[in-house]
Amino acid sequence: MLKLTDPLIEESIENLKEYISFPSVSAKNQSINETANFLKKLFDDLGAEVQILDDYSKPLVYAELILDESTNKTILIYDHYDVQPEEPVELWYSDPFELKITKDKFIARGVSDCKADLISRITALKLYKQENGDWPCNIKFVIEGGEEIASENLEEYLKKYSSLFSADLVIWESGIKNENEQFSFNGGNKGIVCFELEAISASTDLHSSFAAVVDSASWRLNEALSLLRSSNGEILIPGFYDDVLDPSDREKELVDNTIAPDFKSKWDLKTDLLKNPSINYNLAFSPTINIEGISTGWEGEGVKTVTPKKAIAKLECRLVPDQDPKDIFNKINAYLSENGFEDVKATYLMGEKSYRWDLDSKITNKLIETAVNYYGGKDKVEVLPSSPGTGPMHLVNQYTKAPIVSCGVSYSQANNHAPNENIRINDYLEFIEFFEKFLTEVKGI
Ligand SMILES: [Zn+2]
Repeated sequence: MLKLTDPLIEESIENLKEYISFPSVSAKNQSINETANFLKKLFDDLGAEVQILDDYSKPLVYAELILDESTNKTILIYDHYDVQPEEPVELWYSDPFELKITKDKFIARGVSDCKADLISRITALKLYKQENGDWPCNIKFVIEGGEEIASENLEEYLKKYSSLFSADLVIWESGIKNENEQFSFNGGNKGIVCFELEAISASTDLHSSFAAVVDSASWRLNEALSLLRSSNGEILIPGFYDDVLDPSDREKELVDNTIAPDFKSKWDLKTDLLKNPSINYNLAFSPTINIEGISTGWEGEGVKTVTPKKAIAKLECRLVPDQDPKDIFNKINAYLSENGFEDVKATYLMGEKSYRWDLDSKITNKLIETAVNYYGGKDKVEVLPSSPGTGPMHLVNQYTKAPIVSCGVSYSQANNHAPNENIRINDYLEFIEFFEKFLTEVKGI
C-alpha cells in the first residue's frame, strides 16, 4: 500500500497543492491562462510533448507521451482544469483554493471535480516508469478549460486538431466509489436539451378582478406545461421516444447487477418514485423531462392581487442515444402549436447528444478485471453503461473514435460544485496503485 510519506506521493501532493491554488473558475474567466501554463510545466517535467492550443476562449492543453504509434496501444486521458465558483464562501470550513489535508481527507474546490483525478493518473504513470523504466503505452492528455460552462469551444478544438486525438481508449475525467463503497466504472452519459417556454398574455399586468374575463400568462403556461408529461413520468410529446435506442442485452445485464439506491429514505421523498421499481434501469436508459424553474407574477411576501402578463419556464430533457437535441426541441414546438399554444414561445438554449456503450472490449475487460482483483472481488466493483448525468462524451468519441470509460478518486459524498468539496486520501492512494497495475497489464493486450 502506498503511503503519504513515499517520496512519489509527497511529490504528487505538492503538485496537487499547486494545481488547487489556481482559482480556475471558468464562469468568471479567472486564472485560466495561469492554470494552463501550470499544466504545461507539469507535462514538460514529465517529459511529454506539450502544446497549449489557444485559438478559442479557453485554452486546451494537449500533451503526449508517445512510444510508437504503430505498435502500441494509445490511451487518451480527458480531463478539465476549470472548476465551479467557490461561492457561498462563508459555508467553507477552509480556504477553497488552499488544499486542506485532514486525517483522512483532501478538501478544496476542484479536488474531486477533477484536479486530483489528473494528478493521480500522472502519479500512476510516474510509478509505472519508476518500476519499469519507460511508459507502458502511448498516452495522450486532453485537458479543457471550459467544461463547467458546457464545454465551451471543445468542439472547435476537437475539429481543428482532429488528427491529434486518435486513441484506443479514453479514460474520462473522474469517477467515484458509490454509496455501497463499490469502485464504479461508467461507459456513458445522457445528452441534454435545455429550453425556455414563455407565455405573454397582455401588454401589462392587470388587476386580478379582470380574471373574470381575461386569461393570464400564468394559466396559459401552466396548461402548456401540463401537456408535456403524464403524472407517472411518461413524456407525451409525439415522436419523443422514436429514436430511443434500446439497451443491448449486455447493457441491461450490467445494470441488473447493480444495487438500487434507496432514494425514498435518503431524500425523504414526499412523492412516489416515477416508474418504480427499476431505478437503475431508468437512471441509465430513460430520457426525462424536467421543469427547472417557473417564474411569473407576484413572488414576494404577502398578497398582490394581480393577473400576470408574462410567465417563463425553464426546462430540460435528458436524452439517450440516438435522440437529437434539436429534433426533440422541434417536436416540442410543433406539439404545442398543434394543441393551440402557438403563442407560447419556445427558445432553444443548449443541447448535447448522449453517448453509451457496454464496456465490452479487450482493454476495458482488462481494466475491470484489474479493479476486481485490486478492490477485492466482483461485488466491490460496479460497471454501468451510462451515468444519469450529462457531459461531452459523444463529442469526444466522435473525434477520438475510441470507447470511453470513466473512473477515478472520488466518492459519493464529495460535495462536487458545493462548499467543502473533498475526497478521501485513501481513495486517492488506492486509485494510483490500481491504475498503475492496469498500466502494467496494457502492454500484454
Ligand atoms: Zn463539474
